[in-house]
Amino acid sequence: MTIPFLELRDAYDELAGEIDIAVKRVTSSGWYIGGSECERFEKAWAHYCDADHCVGLGNGLEALALSLRVLGIGEGDEVIVPSNTYIASWLAVSMAGAIPVPVEPNPLTHVIEAEAIAPAITPRTRGIMPVHLYGHPCPMDEIVDLARSHNLAIVEDAAQAQGASIAGRKIGAHGDLVAWSFYPTKNLGALGDAGAVTTNRADLAERIRLLSNYGSRAKNVHEVKGFNSRLDPIQAAILGVKLAHLDEWNDRRRRIASVYSEQLADCGLILPHVPNWAEPVWHLYVVQARDRDRLASRLADAGVQTLVHYPTPPHLQDAYADMAKSPGSFPIAEQLAKTVLSIPIGPQLSLDQAEQVADAIKNSVQQ
Ligand SMILES: *Cc1c(COP(=O)(O)O)cnc(C)c1O
Repeated sequence: MTIPFLELRDAYDELAGEIDIAVKRVTSSGWYIGGSECERFEKAWAHYCDADHCVGLGNGLEALALSLRVLGIGEGDEVIVPSNTYIASWLAVSMAGAIPVPVEPNPLTHVIEAEAIAPAITPRTRGIMPVHLYGHPCPMDEIVDLARSHNLAIVEDAAQAQGASIAGRKIGAHGDLVAWSFYPTKNLGALGDAGAVTTNRADLAERIRLLSNYGSRAKNVHEVKGFNSRLDPIQAAILGVKLAHLDEWNDRRRRIASVYSEQLADCGLILPHVPNWAEPVWHLYVVQARDRDRLASRLADAGVQTLVHYPTPPHLQDAYADMAKSPGSFPIAEQLAKTVLSIPIGPQLSLDQAEQVADAIKNSVQQ
């Protein structure tokens, strides 16, 4: 038995006919930057997320960094980030010239909450970056209230949460700006790099579009020193095809997660907790095991591939050596880094395979 962690090729194969037609439409159009394919996907994605505006961008990191910039966040400003996120969230803050200020997550849901954010607010804090990690939504109502009362901006990192909702409302415009990555492994994934922001604020959407295209609205007129971060029309066409299948593919992930949550309930692992208002999309199914590395190697022996998201928290990476945070400064993130294990999940994994994964885990923890 070999069960891969995630097989992207299977996702392509399922939609190959539609995707190839969409790609051909772009390659034969003679139009390769921006244009109708991008506009169509932006409209569709904004509609899907219940947001008024969407701007397609080159990738998720730039979606985050440009969002901070258009909010006027830069040099010397502090932005609150989770201590346990993928490093891209922190790097976006650094790219904008600001300082990431980590706060610890709730270890059962893996996401940050208003209660932990409040004490980290200082006179230099300008923004909060909630990360809907593993597809679990942050409690945005409380975070929005907190941000309002301190006059802080919110940029959501929704790279792992396409389709997630909070009490029936889709992630897409709770904060000022919501940054998306369509990196190939995400729930809505392109066949290359792609990203976007969604927002209900027309002024911010317009600023992002301006900044992402050399600071230019009209040819040869450059209003600000902009960047180049554009959604590729080939990727936009592919994303349009895949968007029509997102809800069904997320449903398949939910069914796999139910198998895991039922089968693994009593085997001594800590399973992800889902609050009653949260509708996660299971980008990853992450368990916590005291003896994580031993469990991972037993599963590997049994033919089950697993991954660790993420083995080293950002504050202990060389990239953030300048923050001078020693081991022990963020104990929850550090503990999670030692115990988390992501088990196979994806729209092309069968329920049979999920049962096999669960059996292999039960056998491994009993040994
Ligand atoms: C994937 C990801 C990003 C970055 O997206 P890219 O498109 O690879 O730049 C940012 N934050 C999180 C949490 C991610 O998972």
